[in-house]
Amino acid sequence: ALHVWQRMVRSTREAHTNQGKDERKPKRTHKPNRECALARNDETFRPEAWKLQRCHVVDPQTSELLDDALAVFFRAPRSFTTEDVLELHVHGGRAVISAVLAALARIPGCRPAAPGEFTRRAFEGGRLDLTQVEGLLDLVDAETVSQRRAALCVAGGDARTEFYALREEIVGCLALVEALIDFGEGEDIEEGVFEEARRRAQRLRDRIQSILADNRRGEIMRAGIRLAIFGPPNVGKSSLLNFLAQREAAIVTHVPGTTRDVLELSLDIGGLPVMVADTAGLRETADEVEKIGIERARKAVQAADASLLVLACPDAVTSTTTPPPSGPRLEIPVELAPLVNQHTFILLNKTDLLPTSALVPAALATALPQQGWAVSLASPHAGTDEFLAGLATALQDRYHLLEDAGSAAEARAPLITHARHRSHLESALGFLDAFLETRGVEDIVLGAEELRYAAQAVGKISGLVDVEDVLDVIFRQFCIGK
Ligand code: GDP
Ligand code: ZN
Repeated sequence: ALHVWQRMVRSTREAHTNQGKDERKPKRTHKPNRECALARNDETFRPEAWKLQRCHVVDPQTSELLDDALAVFFRAPRSFTTEDVLELHVHGGRAVISAVLAALARIPGCRPAAPGEFTRRAFEGGRLDLTQVEGLLDLVDAETVSQRRAALCVAGGDARTEFYALREEIVGCLALVEALIDFGEGEDIEEGVFEEARRRAQRLRDRIQSILADNRRGEIMRAGIRLAIFGPPNVGKSSLLNFLAQREAAIVTHVPGTTRDVLELSLDIGGLPVMVADTAGLRETADEVEKIGIERARKAVQAADASLLVLACPDAVTSTTTPPPSGPRLEIPVELAPLVNQHTFILLNKTDLLPTSALVPAALATALPQQGWAVSLASPHAGTDEFLAGLATALQDRYHLLEDAGSAAEARAPLITHARHRSHLESALGFLDAFLETRGVEDIVLGAEELRYAAQAVGKISGLVDVEDVLDVIFRQFCIGK
């Protein structure tokens, strides 16, 4: 590691004074050691903006040469933070870094940056909006191709542009209504202008509704498909989790849920990010009350995007020699039947316990329209490759996460990538509806208020209005130096 970025920032107070640049001068002062072959000249180092330059890092008090380094000066506002930034590229050894950091710490107003502080300053300086900040975080966390592509679009400002435009249109609609309040002249004009505002509000609410009807694709692409595994005790749910987690191809990370205190297993199934809530992997106790298990499964299935019902042979298969409908049938336990929906897949496990594997396809066929696979998770595994490939295909068909870059899918890339966006859009929709429900010109002041709230709700997505509460949460996720 030859170049280590050690970026330091001035204290907030100093950053807001104009002498900031001069006060940092000592950092760049060059006092050569005559015996040092690296010395360039006797002049003070004067950084040219946006140019990588060799420099000596010298202790401001003792004049001791600390490193022969490189520096880039970014002049405000053309820097990431929009403030003046001096980047020192020093050698990566521990002694060099600690000496340089100690010397910098002695410069008044100089202190290490807090996690996410650079990005926060970029946000506060208007360089990035909140969706771009989230996009940057997602880019750092991206584990799959689709996640990287989506995050890059968001960080680049795609969502920013869209949400800004949406807000502008609401504000435009509000302006019409406010003009009426301020300069209302004659009922005919009023009615006409109000009808125009109503038409625009109607179009806006339709657009927001179509943005919301995205199957949660953006959130799923970012955070993974939430898959709930459920089934009666002893069918092999834990064995399945272990199998999924131990496959070589699986990316297995325990990601602490950002909002919930649930550990989640993050898997890569055929290139798709899949999150399996770890609660499914909790060991069932033998004397567990059946009801509690079902209640827990119900919650897991409700919270998930898709679910996988695990059943085991031979219990789940009533075997007769005749073909369906009277032949071998798959029995879904009555207490679990209400949990099965159109997002439920079926995995029939323990096929090794069936007298003949010929029963399996016939039995599975009775579970239609549920998609299903049959496996044996006892070693040697049987059917697991087909199961994984089939599950990946089924999930891909449903969520279209693995589109090629530049394909039509990119054009309809989902706008919503975070639950936060969805809840703000939902409230904007509510306010637009409330506006549309007002009694027109009679209620015009009330109507204007609803539109103002709608604009505010969309503004919150970009961080344009009071979002102090979420800022800390978002920026805390960055590491130091970002
Ligand atoms: P869970 O209660 O649903 O989590 O089930 P477990 O994963 O704990 O498995 C219950 C028992 O079934 C364990 O003894 C497993 O070794 C066994 N088991 C799991 N899969 C298979 C299989 O495919 N065939 C057979 N014969 N046994 C299995
Ligand atoms: Zn288990």
